[in-house]
Amino acid sequence: MYTATEEITQQVKETARNFAAQYIKPHVMEWDETQVFPVSTFHEMGKLGLMGVLVPEAYGGSGLGYVEYKVIIEEISRVCGSIGLSVAAHNSLCTNHILAFGNEEQKNKYLPKLSSGEWVGAWGLTEANTGSDAGNMKCTAVKTGDDWALNGTKSWITHGKSGNVAVVIARTGEARARNNATAFVVERGTAGFSAGKKENKLGMRASETAEMIFDNCIIPDANRLGEVGEGFKQSMYVLDGGRISIACLGLGIAKGAFEAAAKYSKERHQFDQPISNFQAISFKIADMATEIDAAELLILRACELKNRNEKVTRAAAMAKYYASEVAVKVANEAVQIFGGNGYTKEFPVEKFYRDSKLCTIGEGTSEIQKIVIARETLNMF
Ligand SMILES: Cc1cc2nc3c(=O)[nH]c(=O)nc-3n(C[C@H](O)[C@H](O)[C@H](O)COP(=O)(O)OP(=O)(O)OC[C@H]3O[C@@H](n4cnc5c(N)ncnc54)[C@H](O)[C@@H]3O)c2cc1C
Repeated sequence: MYTATEEITQQVKETARNFAAQYIKPHVMEWDETQVFPVSTFHEMGKLGLMGVLVPEAYGGSGLGYVEYKVIIEEISRVCGSIGLSVAAHNSLCTNHILAFGNEEQKNKYLPKLSSGEWVGAWGLTEANTGSDAGNMKCTAVKTGDDWALNGTKSWITHGKSGNVAVVIARTGEARARNNATAFVVERGTAGFSAGKKENKLGMRASETAEMIFDNCIIPDANRLGEVGEGFKQSMYVLDGGRISIACLGLGIAKGAFEAAAKYSKERHQFDQPISNFQAISFKIADMATEIDAAELLILRACELKNRNEKVTRAAAMAKYYASEVAVKVANEAVQIFGGNGYTKEFPVEKFYRDSKLCTIGEGTSEIQKIVIARETLNMF
């Protein structure tokens, strides 16, 4: 069981907050408008321990727990959702998959580079025709002697182009059969592995999203993570943790939008008074504040379960579902409070509004979270 003192959590929070204010905030709109993925910023975050947050110190990580991870994702996302999403995908998908299912050799080989930020990680499960239905993947890995031949395309992959290393889940059994997928580590530069289309997105525009193409890409069996056939089960475990990080991403976006709107409501005057004097506006502030706190409590519950190594499927799905919907709602209300100004790029809320929508889609849509929550809840009776 992991526990950190409040002092450590506070120090981690200040580190992430200061980095975001100094090195992310000045560039947010430039990166958004040009869709630049600022790789050097991730190298710098690595030096501060933000790229291997949950990785034990023995593998070069920060050895922190989920509450500290929460404050890091939240603080960065309060300033820029794109960078928050990329830090989340790197830490909780690629890095955590290797940490949870890699053998000693694999962990020693990959985790120090990922934790230091020297390498950026990607994680490929989704394909163009299999998102929610990820188990129906078409990308295959076929054993040829001591190697595996990967063929197919993964779509919507965070760092699909710039990632130095990717965990890829490919089908190794019959379509629709149980235990038919296996996870592999694939390094950028491996013959037959290339990047495809980079998506031009509504929001999260500085977080690179691209296809990964495998054309007879030969991977040694030493790069297989865990047993043959366990890839889908491993992915569901990894996604339990990943969903906590998308919940933290939503929380950060909601807090960023809320803080901007609350301040603006006291500064903006109409009818000779601050608009916060109008009950229509102050009640929005009340709803936003209450929902943000409720989302945070659900997230903290999931973090604490995860720190105790307890099953977190239901709690993570609830936190992800609720915090994502709150992010969209709060960002929408923030734009409303800003009025016409909220509809321009001169003020920060239009970006929070665009970025927030990803939270209800990535790592399982809100509809899929409800399926998980209903199944896990009904199993209790
Ligand atoms: C910016 C971004 C980054 C991403 N990064 C990654 C990444 O790094 N790695 C990765 O593997 N994937 C990644 N994804 C993919 C993401 O996880 C999928 O987009 C998501 O799981 C939804 O899949 P889909 O887009 O195919 O939607 P679909 O599955 O086609 O869903 C379309 C709609 O149908 C609904 N629906 C589907 N099935 C059901 C059902 N059984 N019951 C009720 N409703 C249903 C959905 O909720 C949704 O509203 C990323 C996506 C985005 C947008």
